[in-house]
Amino acid sequence: MRLQVILNALERHGSFVYESAAWADSSKEGLLVRVRPRRRSRPICSGCGNRGGTYDHLPERRFQHVPLWGLAVWFVYAARRVACPACGVKVERIPWASGKERTTSSFQWFLARWAKRLSWRETAAIFGTSWHTVFRAVKMAVCWGIRHRDLEGIEAIGIDEVAYRKGHQYFTLVYQIDRGSRRLLWVGQDRTKETLGRFFRFFGRRRTERLKYICSDMWKAYLSVIAREANGALHILDRFHIMQLFNKAIDKVRAQEARELKRKGFEVLKRTRWLLLKRRGNLKRKEVLRLNELLTHNLRTVKCYLMKEDFQRLWDYKAPWRIGSFFQEWLDRALSTRIEPMRNLARTLERHAEQIFNWFEAKGEISAGAVEGMNLKVKLTTRRSYGFRDPSTLKYALYHNLGNLPEPPSTHKF
Ligand SMILES: [Zn+2]
Repeated sequence: MRLQVILNALERHGSFVYESAAWADSSKEGLLVRVRPRRRSRPICSGCGNRGGTYDHLPERRFQHVPLWGLAVWFVYAARRVACPACGVKVERIPWASGKERTTSSFQWFLARWAKRLSWRETAAIFGTSWHTVFRAVKMAVCWGIRHRDLEGIEAIGIDEVAYRKGHQYFTLVYQIDRGSRRLLWVGQDRTKETLGRFFRFFGRRRTERLKYICSDMWKAYLSVIAREANGALHILDRFHIMQLFNKAIDKVRAQEARELKRKGFEVLKRTRWLLLKRRGNLKRKEVLRLNELLTHNLRTVKCYLMKEDFQRLWDYKAPWRIGSFFQEWLDRALSTRIEPMRNLARTLERHAEQIFNWFEAKGEISAGAVEGMNLKVKLTTRRSYGFRDPSTLKYALYHNLGNLPEPPSTHKF
């Protein structure tokens, strides 16, 4: 079977013909497949999309296509210029590549798919192209996906902030967290009121009015914008973010106490950070033993840890009056300690009691792990994208990996 038979079966372009394949100047460069227009076909103007007469031919150009048996494959084509009555002399539109791309659209989609599984650098190395070509492929896939995605029927969103670089550089991320449909909807730089305001302008009045649930953390800028823009939705302080506050408080107390103890020659808190921050269920057996040992000491850190564990019981209550009294008792206890980070945390929770209780009103509608799950995936992506620190590049990576974006239907998936 000749190569053009395969190409015609996979990717046929009506007005063009594949000619026979040949080795490039050296076989290391791969295979060249010459393409020519079908006889008497008229080129399409890239300006207006109408057919016109051929004005002249440009020099031949190569377009990199999906590799075959580890060989690079290039389409070689001398584009025509169109004498267009409306636009003047214009380069023709070609169906296998867009605009000035030197990579075929099929190869771009191919690279974009692999770039979800491998790092961009690995993708480039394996398929014989550059990091930049992979980036352009991802960008193309993201832009296409965003133009064609469906934003109807969204009832629950989660708002999250993620530091993507040291030194307080943040993204505001908005996820859809409906049951059965979780994806990244929007990424904005910073975590200001202005940032979140931009999301709501993008999302639009009509869709915002249909939102039933909004989960967020207690970041002040977000709270005020949510109250202003989406007061029809139930605003819920996310369980994941609340427990994060506990971890921050514990971490503070632990660091301070460890320093004090060290000065006195005790090292009982050494290397206990993750024991205390990780969820008990995620600890290995050995770690559980160490944690249990640690908990026998009479330390402020231990006290904080136990208060956190105790607070977790809140999420299991069903009857509203029980939740209220449990919450109040817990606050009283926390406020009666002399541990300042715990007292601060209790005051914060008290201020946001309403939004915390909203969690119970929405119970069953949105899952506890939704925001946390997305947050973890975001962290994986930002970590893997180590090497490109440019925020706009990172944005594409996030949409690409977490946006669940559609792809065009094609006759063949390479
Ligand atoms: Zn035209």
